[in-house]
Amino acid sequence: MTTLADLPPLREALAAHGLMARKSFGQHFLLDLNITRKIARLAALAQGDTVIEVGPGPGGLTRALIETGAHVVAIEKDERFRPLLEDLAAAAAGALTIVMGDALLADEAALAGGEAHVVSNLPYNVGTPLLVKWLTGAWTPASLTLMFQKEVADRIVAPPGGGAYGRLAVIAQATCEARAVMDVPARAFTPPPKVDSAVVRLTPRPGRPAPDRLDALQRVTAAAFGQRRKMLRASLKALGGEALARAAGLDPQARAETVDIPGFLRLADAWLQLRNRPA
Ligand code: SAM
Repeated sequence: MTTLADLPPLREALAAHGLMARKSFGQHFLLDLNITRKIARLAALAQGDTVIEVGPGPGGLTRALIETGAHVVAIEKDERFRPLLEDLAAAAAGALTIVMGDALLADEAALAGGEAHVVSNLPYNVGTPLLVKWLTGAWTPASLTLMFQKEVADRIVAPPGGGAYGRLAVIAQATCEARAVMDVPARAFTPPPKVDSAVVRLTPRPGRPAPDRLDALQRVTAAAFGQRRKMLRASLKALGGEALARAAGLDPQARAETVDIPGFLRLADAWLQLRNRPA
């Protein structure tokens, strides 16, 4: 019986199946198991944990995740990878479930059958929508360890006051503790992308905002950062303008990028109250 240790190196596995990276699927592979093992370590998994991995591709990160003793549910959209991933599942002796399909449409609760972590070297073209789905959707992961383009990673962990601080930082940090934990240069990938990458680790905060509060947060951040150079009284005009800013205890002349996470949560609450007030 083939075990993980008997599998050929990733480059050979790709060649044996005649597989080349495709740009349309955002494919940039990590073929160095030292790097994928480091990412798996950063995910801090315990024996028996369930992990959802988006985009296993050739399976380098998948192999490292299986080695931790976790059960991996890997969702891959590119059908060409099915035979290679089936070889990997056979060698993993029950520790790997392959799901062929689009992760944007996946029902994670049903796939995981309980609590699960998410670990992925995300495809660039769908990284942000997937993150927003996990942060605001019906299913909440136990933790997320995710590779993004460096510029996106910076926008997730940005503090208030700078150009990188925007909607993504507010949604991510209102729901999670978010840290950039590893830089990965473009040359580490095959083929190398144009830009460097970074791994971000997100741990959901206890007491995640309720769905209506999250929805309100999305609305106020969309308005405030949609016109980020304007003062809040102007950028929030359609939602209540100066009165809304004041109700949240904010200076109506402030700009969005100076408002911290608690400030945006107060804005969301104030907007909910204004909206629910009888006319
Ligand atoms: N995990 C592999 C690695 O680290 O070498 C591959 C990472 S590559 C950046 C992204 C992977 O996501 C590819 O295998 C690609 O086919 C897959 N993918 C792209 N869009 C997807 C989607 N919507 N749902 C699931 N997988 C997707």
